[in-house]
Amino acid sequence: MNSIGSMLSRDQEPRLAECETHGAYESRNLFRSVWSGCPQCGAEREAQEKTERERKGRSEWLAAWQRKIGSAGIPERFRDRSLESFVAETDAKRRALDFALSYADDFDSALEIGRSALFIGGVGTGKTHLAAGIGLHIMARNSRTVLFSTVMRAIRLVKDTWNKEADQTETEAIATLTAPDLLILDEVGVQFGSETEKLILFDVLNERYEKRRPTLLLSNLDLGGVRTYLGERVFDRIREDGGEVVIFDWQSHRGRG
Ligand SMILES: [Zn+2]
Repeated sequence: MNSIGSMLSRDQEPRLAECETHGAYESRNLFRSVWSGCPQCGAEREAQEKTERERKGRSEWLAAWQRKIGSAGIPERFRDRSLESFVAETDAKRRALDFALSYADDFDSALEIGRSALFIGGVGTGKTHLAAGIGLHIMARNSRTVLFSTVMRAIRLVKDTWNKEADQTETEAIATLTAPDLLILDEVGVQFGSETEKLILFDVLNERYEKRRPTLLLSNLDLGGVRTYLGERVFDRIREDGGEVVIFDWQSHRGRG
């Protein structure tokens, strides 16, 4: 005779048990001397585990999101800037915000035609806030790739590959700057160290133009200054296909903004 069958058989009748928290409950014999525990305790434990799983899921999602923002190069203090949190209490600010909202919402069509934009204005007027807001928006909603960089950092990325010990080739560095769906280029207008540096920037802008990948350029110079800095040809290319100039001509609100 097979004795396993009799070992597994539930031949003992349910019995009354007592939970310290929930009081009396009916305990069923599960296996030999193993009896079922308090069902309410079980349900509570299950709910707790579910919450824990969800919390962990959220924090994993958050960590992945932080990594994504980190690799997009968005500066630390702008990582929580959303388009929704931009305070637009004047008409000029509202125009800037409206542009940013529609550009972000309709980024797919900007990408289709390679529509770039130019944000012009003094320090602390919210250019970076709106640009970061656009970047974060299209990363989150459209799963688009974004790279935020200053002009000098972009140039350095390429120049560093000229080093013998560099682990990246120049082509790879250029690709880092030209592959993202949106490149946000800050500090356009900062003095080039050499003609070579200028050419590196133009290479990147040209390649993006040819691939119809939009670039957001941020500058403290006025429009004429930006045109001189970039030169007619590059400037015209940026303004082609509806590339808009958004003027941030109000006083700095740094510290609040
Ligand atoms: Zn219990």
